[in-house]
Amino acid sequence: ATPMSIMTATGRGAQAGVLIRNAEALERFETVDTLIVDKTGTLTEGKPRLVAVLPEAGHDEDSVLRLAASLERGSEHPLAEAIVRGAEERSLALATSEAFEAITGKGVTGRVDNRDIALGNARLLSDLGLQSERLASEANERRDNGETVMFVVVDGAIAGLVSVADPVKETTPAALDALHALGFRIIMATGDNERTARAIGSRLGIDEIRADVLPADKAAIVRELQAEGRRVAMAGDGVNDAPALAQADVGIAMGTGADVAIESAGITLVKGNLDGIARARRLARATMRNIR
Ligand code: ADP
Ligand code: MG
Repeated sequence: ATPMSIMTATGRGAQAGVLIRNAEALERFETVDTLIVDKTGTLTEGKPRLVAVLPEAGHDEDSVLRLAASLERGSEHPLAEAIVRGAEERSLALATSEAFEAITGKGVTGRVDNRDIALGNARLLSDLGLQSERLASEANERRDNGETVMFVVVDGAIAGLVSVADPVKETTPAALDALHALGFRIIMATGDNERTARAIGSRLGIDEIRADVLPADKAAIVRELQAEGRRVAMAGDGVNDAPALAQADVGIAMGTGADVAIESAGITLVKGNLDGIARARRLARATMRNIR
């Protein structure tokens, strides 16, 4: 590539759907050596769908799913949408819930049909002093397949699990290969559990995985890597990702993501996939060669 001006670089980027906020973002991006990527909605499509309902003894699939979906109607989380849609596809009549509460990074609780319902991950189960023995190996098999497993608790006892799958974007593998070839170390940060994160990360050749990350902790991971002397870009799409995007040397938002993520970013990928990051890097290099 020939050297080029910042104006030319940002113009070329824009044509390809890579919006670079200013000269500073471009300059900084040339020095980045570490890229943190959010999983859901960044590596994956972010539109999970229900793939299994497994009842505990004494329960049946439809009643477990109906209770779960009735509660999740109160949540805007993509996992909740998957569960509600799954119940609708089975034509289950949903009830209204009471005392709905979302527990960040863990799940949701409330009352349905005058029963106490909790729905969420293993952390939520352990908060409730519960452990799933009968469903544990099935849960792990599903996680090893990249699925996200949530347990349904009814009146203090595990009634079953629901599992959702969120496919990796078609563009993700080649985009990550290109970024590896450019020398980036790639780290996945996700609120999802370790096993699911590893299944997806190892398929994609991700260098390091940070799983079970609470929303507030993504920015702390960026700071930790910066303190080790790394120059960090963070790519994400969610409201949860915004503080980490702002903390990073360069924040990279999906154009399909939350407005607050886009506002916190130095680079926006209009097409909502990771292809544009390698292009931004090549533009940054060509520009900086010219300036120096
Ligand atoms: P992420 O969006 O990266 O998955 P979150 O912090 O939003 O991170 O969620 C982390 C985990 O908490 C989810 O994988 C899920 O197990 C659980 N969780 C969060 N919200 C819900 C919900 N509405 N229903 C069930 N589980 C949930
Ligand atoms: Mg996300």
